[in-house]
Amino acid sequence: MRSTMPDFPLTLQHFLWRSTTLFPRKEIVTRREAGRHRYTYADFGKRVAQLAHALKDLGIGPGDRVGTLAWNTYRHLELYFAVPCAGAVVHTLNPRLAPEHLVFVVNDAEDKVIFVDVSLLPVLQRVASKLNSTKQFVVMTDGPSPDGELKPLLSYEELIAGRPAEYPWPDLDEQDAAAMCYTSGTTGRPKGVVYSHRSSVLHAFGITIGGIGPTEGDTLLPIVPMFHANAWGHPFAATMLGAKQVFPDRFLDPVSLTELIHEEGVTFSAGVPSVWIALLQYLDKTGTNLDGFRMFVGGSAMPAALYDGLSKHGIDVIQGWGMTETSPVAACTTMKSYMTEKDKRAVRLKQGLPIAGVELRLANVESGELVPWDGKSSGEIQVRGPWVTTSYYRGVDPDRFTADGWLRTGDVANVDGEGYAQIVDRTKDLIKSGGEWISSVELESAIMGHPKVLEAAVIGVPHPKWQERPVAYVVPKPDFKGAVSQAEILEYLTPLVAKWWLPDEVRFVDEIPKTSVGKFDKKVIRQWASSSAPVTAPSE
Ligand code: ADP
Repeated sequence: MRSTMPDFPLTLQHFLWRSTTLFPRKEIVTRREAGRHRYTYADFGKRVAQLAHALKDLGIGPGDRVGTLAWNTYRHLELYFAVPCAGAVVHTLNPRLAPEHLVFVVNDAEDKVIFVDVSLLPVLQRVASKLNSTKQFVVMTDGPSPDGELKPLLSYEELIAGRPAEYPWPDLDEQDAAAMCYTSGTTGRPKGVVYSHRSSVLHAFGITIGGIGPTEGDTLLPIVPMFHANAWGHPFAATMLGAKQVFPDRFLDPVSLTELIHEEGVTFSAGVPSVWIALLQYLDKTGTNLDGFRMFVGGSAMPAALYDGLSKHGIDVIQGWGMTETSPVAACTTMKSYMTEKDKRAVRLKQGLPIAGVELRLANVESGELVPWDGKSSGEIQVRGPWVTTSYYRGVDPDRFTADGWLRTGDVANVDGEGYAQIVDRTKDLIKSGGEWISSVELESAIMGHPKVLEAAVIGVPHPKWQERPVAYVVPKPDFKGAVSQAEILEYLTPLVAKWWLPDEVRFVDEIPKTSVGKFDKKVIRQWASSSAPVTAPSE
């Protein structure tokens, strides 16, 4: 028997309708070089329509890719809606990608037009001559387009000015592509993931139900870049709900962020641990509290010291796990109603329960056989669900998908009897010593608990007898530069980890290299290790 319900398409057009019709007075604020830009969802809706008219005149048709090279701003949000609601595909470009990767992703996606922030013009200029399909650039600035090498270059404001403030949005199929994003290349060449309207809508529902999206009453500050997995879907969810949104542009230093949080009444934010490590240092130094502030942390493992430090400043921290391939949120550390305080403490640093809509299983890394959920046995996480991709763009790397439709995530974890997954490592980062695995993630988290340590990354280096041995790269807190020794770190670790896990060497460095999305870049650290290049000698 068929239901009486329609195949009402789940599209981003519904979110646009909802925010502009039901919440026209709510605000969208953007930090600028000087001051802030602010307008309402009503203004937003008009400009989205004007932009859609402009896209049509630029020759953008159904399914065409429109690139964006931009920070988190209201204009980027306008593109997030005008492009897919008009039937085209918004392709967010990561300005921190290596130039050859940037050229690769633009050419692979065949972006016809690229919208670029004025502050990012130099990034585009460097690669423009190598872009095969891009026929037009649009600079996002207040005035006319500046003179420069990038041509043809239109000005965003001139392009949309005077156009009708309503648009006859076309009927769309919910399976049509809405957005695309490439993996950031932490573990190799970027691979394209194409999101549908349906997957974007269901993901917004999923994070909202999961308690890791904003509510209507929240003021959202997305710190995770809009070029990184759709800023974890938060701008879509916030627009769906009509929540106030505050965009930081490129000003992500702790002083700018705390100013925005206080002055705009921000209640909810999302970002990777490295941003929060910097904020925590600032809060500690200035004795500032952010009572009631909710923070969604993801992208890499959250160290215990970070969780505890932020909690002391009144911040409610929740960790989530996911990847570009999973839109990106797949799990988060929501607590169950019957958990005791002790239970909650035990799971707070785990990557969490799969959120409603996503199914998860553990498979043996070598044999592929299912691994039990006993909190000890580890295996690769495999996931499936309506917002988990089942292939990469152009079908590359098909081995990442199982024959029965699950994504092989490349993350190794254990899952406890309650269903909470704990990431042990990425398959590529696990350290194999004497036939046993050592978790670099666990070692890093333990070292970052040392009161003199700001950041730590651990890699495996080849060893003639043990195959690999761990070496730690450690950044001391500014006040302890040159005042912390290898012996102190090892002594601190001794009661926390198995003896054979202790790093063979602790190398003190000024900075841990970061990837384009702010994660520890172990590819670079491995190069350091193999060339023993710019590391300072251990302090003993
Ligand atoms: P890239 O693969 O280039 O780093 P992604 O942003 O897609 O880009 O990264 C996804 C990966 O980030 C996951 O496979 C996992 O290894 C890591 N990750 C994401 N969230 C967490 C988390 N909460 N804890 C540990 N690792 C995480």
